[in-house]
Amino acid sequence: MIPPIPYATEILRFLERHHFERVTPRAALIDMDGTLYDSMPNHTAAWHRLMTEAGVNCTREEFYLYEGRTGRSTINTLFRREFNREATPEECERLYERKTEYFRELPPVTPMPGALDMLTTLKEAGIARVLVTGSGQRSLIDRISADFPGIFSDDRIITSRDVNHGKPHPEPFIKAMQLARVRPSQAIVIENAPLGVEAGDRSGAFTIGITTGPIPEETLREAGAAVVFPSMPDFARSLPVLLLSLLTVNRI
Ligand code: CA
Repeated sequence: MIPPIPYATEILRFLERHHFERVTPRAALIDMDGTLYDSMPNHTAAWHRLMTEAGVNCTREEFYLYEGRTGRSTINTLFRREFNREATPEECERLYERKTEYFRELPPVTPMPGALDMLTTLKEAGIARVLVTGSGQRSLIDRISADFPGIFSDDRIITSRDVNHGKPHPEPFIKAMQLARVRPSQAIVIENAPLGVEAGDRSGAFTIGITTGPIPEETLREAGAAVVFPSMPDFARSLPVLLLSLLTVNRI
């Protein structure tokens, strides 16, 4: 009996849903916060402090659900709920600046364990890497080349400044595909957050969800992840097999 191909069920389900014959990965579109850096505890702490001071009733946990949105979008979500209005552009700028300050006051964040192994596997497989982040904070973006040397070139980065619509809109990933000159069936998205996964799936890319915080695996599946891994080291270990399966499984 021929042993089953790992992930064949998940890959076929994705191909059918998106009406593709096959996925041929040529570019990986990779999220930053919570994927490459263990930065979400600091982000949620900074947001919670900021919005509580601004008079908004909120919990720290809810900011894990807004992950991937632009700063403006997060601020307006809370302003509409609390004050029945949007924040002015000046308020947004001031609040986001202060949030960035609060983030910087916290202990420095560390690269996600397993992230460098995962990126090295992609590089060795000849797959282009594009960083796709909803963040506009330079503090982490500026560390990328030091923490992950030789992985991302400066012209392969999409930040909140490059898009009109943040995640869950697919625009950040569509822009990343244009940068790498690939079609959706040639792209994979690597994400940790529900809104990022939703954006990846809406862009048409084969979207991989990795739980690295309190969000359950099921939530990433419901958001559209084709496959989900319970941690970054687990994903890094499984990636060579997943890439081989993607090249093997097709609907022809
Ligand atoms: Ca993220």
